[in-house]
Amino acid sequence: MARRFDGDRLVIASHNAGKVREIADLLAPFEVEVVSAAALRLPEPEETGTSFIENALIKAEAAAAGSGLPSLADDSGLVVPALDGAPGIHSARWAGPAKDFRFAMEKLEEALGEDDDRAAHFACALALCWPDGASETFEGTVHGRLVWPPRGRHGFGYDPIFVPNGHDITFGEMEAADKHAISHRADAFRKLIVACF
Ligand code: IMP
Repeated sequence: MARRFDGDRLVIASHNAGKVREIADLLAPFEVEVVSAAALRLPEPEETGTSFIENALIKAEAAAAGSGLPSLADDSGLVVPALDGAPGIHSARWAGPAKDFRFAMEKLEEALGEDDDRAAHFACALALCWPDGASETFEGTVHGRLVWPPRGRHGFGYDPIFVPNGHDITFGEMEAADKHAISHRADAFRKLIVACF
């Protein structure tokens, strides 16, 4: 059985303000005071893991050790089986230092070339770690296919080229609430909430 979160303060192990806001919203019903690793001036550990789960654990463990508080980290990305899983854990890095996702999407389209296999999924790993070293991890996915050219201005990252299964529009064309109902992050959060909150 998973260890339950019974504290009243939780560190979100991220320096990404958008991610912290999204996680704080998802935790709003649970009366938890959420504080970000950036606000606590915790250093950002290097993501040296070889999977989403490993990288989420690296971030959450570092924040729990640095703050003395339970900490939650999210690591996510786009997985394309025809490219042997790329960009995967390197999804953010594909956009380069300028975080240019138009460039990252073009690189992806170029790598696929004439390949008809356009299947892809987003994956999200969550790690909840306690200062005593205990941890719980959860994974969520949303399956779909890649399209070209990019469509829509909502969302972020690779959203404009990803059409989730059962839909005709990209995440970039979808209202935020509709995306959040089916996203990889929502899937992982549902599992976290059931097990730990
Ligand atoms: P992380 O902050 O290291 O977990 O990097 C996550 C990266 O994966 C982001 O920069 C995006 O490129 C990509 N990504 C994760 N989730 C999504 C999503 O919901 N839509 C589009 N791109 C995403």
